[in-house]
Amino acid sequence: MTIIPNAFGGAKVQSKSTRSQPVYNPATGEAIATLPLSTAAELDEVVQVAKQAAVSWGTTPPLRRVRHMFKFKELLDRHSHDIARAISSEHGKTHADAFGELARGIEVVDFACGIPHLLKGEFSRNVGPDIDSWSDRQPLGVVAGITPFNFPAMVPMWMYPIAIAAGNTFILKPSERDPSAPMLIWDLFHEAGFPAGVLNIVHGDKEVVDAILDHPDIKAVSFVGSTAIAEYVYTRGTAHGKRVQALGGAKNHMIVMPDADMDKAVDALMGAGYGSAGERCMAIAVAVPIGEKTANHLVEALAPKVRGLKIGPSTDPDAEMGPVITADAKRKISGLIDLGVKEGAELVVDGRGFALQGYESGYFLGGTLFDHVTKDMTIYRQEIFGPVLSVLRANSYDEAVDLINKHEYGNGTAIFTRDGDAARAFADRIEVGMVGINVPLPVPVAYHSFGGWKRSLFGDHSIYGPEGVRFYTRLKTITSRWMTSIRAGADFNFPSTK
Ligand code: NAD
Repeated sequence: MTIIPNAFGGAKVQSKSTRSQPVYNPATGEAIATLPLSTAAELDEVVQVAKQAAVSWGTTPPLRRVRHMFKFKELLDRHSHDIARAISSEHGKTHADAFGELARGIEVVDFACGIPHLLKGEFSRNVGPDIDSWSDRQPLGVVAGITPFNFPAMVPMWMYPIAIAAGNTFILKPSERDPSAPMLIWDLFHEAGFPAGVLNIVHGDKEVVDAILDHPDIKAVSFVGSTAIAEYVYTRGTAHGKRVQALGGAKNHMIVMPDADMDKAVDALMGAGYGSAGERCMAIAVAVPIGEKTANHLVEALAPKVRGLKIGPSTDPDAEMGPVITADAKRKISGLIDLGVKEGAELVVDGRGFALQGYESGYFLGGTLFDHVTKDMTIYRQEIFGPVLSVLRANSYDEAVDLINKHEYGNGTAIFTRDGDAARAFADRIEVGMVGINVPLPVPVAYHSFGGWKRSLFGDHSIYGPEGVRFYTRLKTITSRWMTSIRAGADFNFPSTK
């Protein structure tokens, strides 16, 4: 069985750790690779390599840096289908979905190719007599990223293309559940001619994450994953003086107004609720129809579509959704469905008994639809991260907005309506970081930035786009005057132009 190596200093290096874990194909339940879980000492070795590489990479002219980035983008485009297959084989999502994930990651590479312009500072002449001043954004040095299983290619690409284009060197700790796509991408990165030590990958679990958070030579950490770990990473990383952005979990609501185009709202809920088996931080988990009539209409239209979902392995081109990531995830989601029933929600479609012929050991679940969910139920409060959509009926628009604003998560949300006033007021009042108006998955494009509010993001910076450039650089302001214009004699007053 393949043993997945680390990758640093331009080479693949097998970990000597005594701990390891299997990587599974979730469609079959088969172990397909072994992943050694690296030690803190191994992480230190990687940091030393990245630190050494940062010295010359940070002073390489940005135009030269992005020449490699252009080449990298070209290689990614050329090998997109291979990478998508690697994603699907360990994650389980359909090929088209994996391809789409990668395409969104490549858009960040496109954005990073513009770094010479993005790093241009600001200049002011004559801020005082014969004095000029300019501000400049400089790299931090060695930075790291810790990423979740649900987007094994895209989420790391939210981070390292910008960090590296800005002149930093990067250490990636991918999810231990689907580590192969990042490795394939690392090969292309090196083929693109980046110097050794610029992008490094170290695999592992809590031991290596803690070592990253504590290491004095790592200056910033980007994290994406569940809220409990995001909060832990933020607290521990900042306690060690690092800049940290930690993106956490979500529970995204979609309001369906009585005037919405119901067919389009139903299609949107199907894609955003069940695409990728609901394992997206921007998945819609709660539909909030306004008024009984809208709710009855919505549930009647959704139920047959949920029953009719085409579920299959990623190799089935007709599949709309694949398995969930692990046997544990399947158990946890099924347990939450049990709890929903116990707490009194109406189970309209039950996905627990789903089995796929020939794939009986895979981690498949059918689509599940709950109606009459209330705000005190566990299935409403907790992130389920599976193919489960809850319908929570609201009597009014104000009630729906209040519900969303009071939820602990604030990642994404959407409203479906034909009423421009209601949509505009929604965008203003809602306490959520990313808002869709007749758009169910409002994931910002690469030249905007991605980030939730409340317990969906810890830290001051959203990720990628202009916020990514700010996060991975620090501002320096230089004030200069040449000797000929300096008057003799010390001046003890605070400098001003008065
Ligand atoms: P996770 O929190 O289990 O793992 C994320 C990373 O943290 C992994 O690299 C993992 O190795 C590491 N980790 C796990 N436990 C740890 C511990 N105890 N100490 C230190 N490190 C630890 O998340 P996941 O299950 O891989 O991903 C799903 C979660 O990610 C969901 O909650 C989802 O909403 C969230 N997510 C959020 C966003 C976003 O942009 N806000 C995007 C994608 C996923």
